[in-house]
Amino acid sequence: MKSYQVTEFGKPLELREYEDPTPKGKEVLIKISACGVCHSDLHLAEGFFDLGNGKKITLSDRGTKLPFTPGHEITGEVVAKGENAQEINIGDRGIVFPWIGCQDCESCLNEKETLCENPKYLGARLNGGYSDHIMIPDGKYLVPYGDLDPYQAAPYACSGLTAYSALKKIPNTNIEEFILVIGAGGVGCNGILLASSIHKAKIIAIDIDESKRNEAKKLGAFAAFSPEDKKEILGLCEGKIVAAIDFVGNEETTNFGINMIKKGGTVVVVGLYGGSISLSLPLIPMRSLNLKGSYVGELKELKELVEIIKSGSVKLINVKPQKLDTANEAMNDLKNGKVNGRIVLCP
Ligand SMILES: [Zn+2]
Ligand SMILES: [Zn+2]
Repeated sequence: MKSYQVTEFGKPLELREYEDPTPKGKEVLIKISACGVCHSDLHLAEGFFDLGNGKKITLSDRGTKLPFTPGHEITGEVVAKGENAQEINIGDRGIVFPWIGCQDCESCLNEKETLCENPKYLGARLNGGYSDHIMIPDGKYLVPYGDLDPYQAAPYACSGLTAYSALKKIPNTNIEEFILVIGAGGVGCNGILLASSIHKAKIIAIDIDESKRNEAKKLGAFAAFSPEDKKEILGLCEGKIVAAIDFVGNEETTNFGINMIKKGGTVVVVGLYGGSISLSLPLIPMRSLNLKGSYVGELKELKELVEIIKSGSVKLINVKPQKLDTANEAMNDLKNGKVNGRIVLCP
């Protein structure tokens, strides 16, 4: 099997060849059809996340051992299975759920694997999808996608699921209300596309970039503004901004969300841009502020999301398939903001 691997943090990926592994127990070997290139792959290859004030969280501290294969937006087909992999067959196709926990703790047993303290995420702790094959620990993590195109389906494992799970963390809304989507990049655009499948509230997109604001309106945002247009936004929404999802995750964007929502509203921080905020503590109780984090999503949410996209009720993510050999170029293009839509690597 051929894999593009991080062999040293901060360096380009290297092509390595290995014997195809043999699945044991409940393990399933998947031949990869496509793997999306996600922004967090850049952080993983660099080896750290910025916590603000000069602090960093490094991946070696979090237990990532080198070399490893990044990539967590994977679709593929079962080519071999262990002796206890009962409910899956050779030839089954699907989206691989990558946010796998230890499968043993209370969070995992309650199907909340993203809350597991000892996760085994594919493409971070276990080898991921910048490869022609991947081993998954259990066939239950392959979610069938029916007649969807495997390239088209791949980004729903992270980009789509992240947006979906963040939207679900906002209490039910009505048609008079508004949700701010801060950051109309890839995941933010998915949030706009998926919002109507969960919420009645109207979506206001916030972005500093005019072309992204225009794109957001095309995808279904009720309106789009620059963060400087605070007065216009508050005028339009008349005190009915019940939530903000921060798909950027820096000091300005999270503060913006906190300052714009109504009392009792919710700010969901999703983006991992980095930094820190200072928050006046009395305002948390006085405004009954809810500040939540949302990290990717759960297996059952991916299954719900696949049903939504299969139903044809939402417009799908724009994807750009290219050869697996271009993994390093793809990552550079993403880093330099040159990518429209999602690059998916195809072995
Ligand atoms: Zn991702
Ligand atoms: Zn666990």
